[in-house]
Amino acid sequence: MYREILIQAAEEETKVAVLEEGQLVEIYVEREPDQRLVGNIYKGVVKNVLPGMQAAFVDIGLEKNAFLYVEDVWTNLLGPGGESRTEHPAEAIRPNIRDLVKEGQELVVQIAKEPVGTKGARITTNLALPGRYLVLLPMADYIGISRRITDEAERERLKDIAEQLKPEKIGLIVRTVAEGACPEALGQDRQKLLKMWERLMLRAENTSGPLLLHQDLGLVQRVLRDVFSGDIQKLSVNARSVMAMIIDYLDIVDESLKNRVFLSDTAKLFAKYAVEQEIAQALKRKVWLKNGGYIVIDETEALTAIDVNTGKFIGSKDLADTVLKTNCEAVREIARQLRLRNIGGIIIIDFIDMDTENDRQKLLAVLEEELKKDKVKTHILGITSLGFVEMTRKKVRQSLSSTLEKCCPYCGGKGRVLSEQ
Ligand SMILES: [Zn+2]
Repeated sequence: MYREILIQAAEEETKVAVLEEGQLVEIYVEREPDQRLVGNIYKGVVKNVLPGMQAAFVDIGLEKNAFLYVEDVWTNLLGPGGESRTEHPAEAIRPNIRDLVKEGQELVVQIAKEPVGTKGARITTNLALPGRYLVLLPMADYIGISRRITDEAERERLKDIAEQLKPEKIGLIVRTVAEGACPEALGQDRQKLLKMWERLMLRAENTSGPLLLHQDLGLVQRVLRDVFSGDIQKLSVNARSVMAMIIDYLDIVDESLKNRVFLSDTAKLFAKYAVEQEIAQALKRKVWLKNGGYIVIDETEALTAIDVNTGKFIGSKDLADTVLKTNCEAVREIARQLRLRNIGGIIIIDFIDMDTENDRQKLLAVLEEELKKDKVKTHILGITSLGFVEMTRKKVRQSLSSTLEKCCPYCGGKGRVLSEQ
């Protein structure tokens, strides 16, 4: 399948579109990217130690000094033999912040919480470098497997792989996406992260703080990490600075992908592919199908309800044939809309009633096939006694609607207002 990524970077907003065979299937939006600091790694200088608050102020080069609490520093500075300490209540053996950091001391720290208002950022010395399948924990020394992987045999398999890959005195967490991944892919990820960590350490050793060592570039970098792999044929970007950043990133993680990156000369990259129209479409309730049928998507607090209708479609042979065709056409569009709208949680689909069990099974098989294209985990539970198809889709980020829209102040999001009478 021909897969393509478009990145449209602008000062106020960055958008990333993923297309399959020329059709928009995923959209990511980030506003004010420079405001996003979580995950950034700095070399900081301890300014004040506040024993009364069990915290320290650390200058990391931001407007306000960052805040380092004792519990965010002590776990990895106590030395070896610490495994048992996590079983004790923190209070019992919590050391004093004064014994851990000194004024003027330089520390490598990562932002855990954004600065809010007058409060500085909250930082930690427990660094974490997320990769595609693994998270490298340079300050820890253990292996963790994502709790979301529930299959015991799979957890064992991943644990075995992780044990072989674990660098000395560096921790590894296996992320949920690693479920079913081959050992080679995890090994490559480990290499990338180690390289990134070594480069970061080299910078830290040869410079003095305060200094930004590693910037989690948010959207674009996340897309590179989580989406841009060998199955993407082309990546177009509209900004020279972002292009340079991407090439820098690929230099570290995967040089073979560099020749797939193109600078698009058009300022409005998305216009060329009619992406904006597709986004507008993805915010509407009603989506027309090619054959004249349509689906209606209602996102509610509890679940998302999707209704399938025949509409104008009058089939060729007989009614059962028409119904099955419309339902199958709807399935393809529903699978795409779930990705595009990034709908998570419980999803209930009301297909047009089908008389035979055979047709129902055929439809479920098509649904299963279409959902395979989705990187987000989905689960089909089957058909309820009332004839609805029940499924779930993992919630990873906000839905497109909650990213781009706010609740209507007139109807409170209900979509209805009192009639004139
Ligand atoms: Zn309204």
